[in-house]
Amino acid sequence: MDLSHFQSRYGDFTGQLPDIIAVKSGLKPVARFRASGREGFQDFPEFKRICEEEGLAASRTEEDGNYQTNVEVGYYIYISRSGDLVEKAKKTDPSIGTGDPRKFGSVLGYPECCVERLRPENVESVFLSEPVQTFDYRLNFFINFTNYYLVSHVPCSGACRRSLEYSKSLFEKVKEFDSDYAARMRENLKLPVLVYFPDDTPANSLDRRETVVFDGEFEGGSLHYTGFETDSSPDSGNDIKENLPALKKGDVLELGEGSIIIQKDEERLGSLPADSYTLFRFDDFTEEGGEDI
Ligand SMILES: [Zn+2]
Repeated sequence: MDLSHFQSRYGDFTGQLPDIIAVKSGLKPVARFRASGREGFQDFPEFKRICEEEGLAASRTEEDGNYQTNVEVGYYIYISRSGDLVEKAKKTDPSIGTGDPRKFGSVLGYPECCVERLRPENVESVFLSEPVQTFDYRLNFFINFTNYYLVSHVPCSGACRRSLEYSKSLFEKVKEFDSDYAARMRENLKLPVLVYFPDDTPANSLDRRETVVFDGEFEGGSLHYTGFETDSSPDSGNDIKENLPALKKGDVLELGEGSIIIQKDEERLGSLPADSYTLFRFDDFTEEGGEDI
């Protein structure tokens, strides 16, 4: 598989390389990308031409489509090995019309358990039930704004069997494609993240979540870190930015009563309410003899 032109020209800034590999290798029927006119993809005809050379069909929505996005100009792109599926995805996409989210999920190849379990009323119990949660690293979708992710859907649990089967197969393809990239992916997917879910609208919060990725690891129940990166923009209206100075100063996150406490040298620098912040740690469930996948 030679997708180097995608990697060099599109993958890096769109964060869609794993999905392109999944569609190209037949693991995923259709992928949908959100593209911003400001950042690129004004040269969609060129993207489409490269897709066609790779045996893939590509289509896009109009720029002024009725999509939900927080960038001023944007649209969705659909790619598939089948031109019919591309059109079907466009028709069933609830973000641009009146499509049914469940039908759309199945067109995109999402496991049924994930589509069913993650209905809005369940999202809170899946992601906010515990202040620290453990996922298999292959199901880490929290940094999918980078090129480091395997599942592009939200898995119904940190050990969803069908999502793990998919992500293991895709990881094999990623390794074949570029073993250095695969190694970097594995390393990044194992970094602990702190996720902020704004306000009380869970289904919505997942899309509007903000993520802090830590250079660090768990020792017992505490996260010890030396630095972090965040996708939170300085002008976001969310309160995560108020906690960034304390996070910068601190080096340990510890679980307190109903909160996650920021510390340095056992001094308390701040705290994050556990009803809107969750820490995720990522392990390899197969190595630990847990889930048989
Ligand atoms: Zn599932």
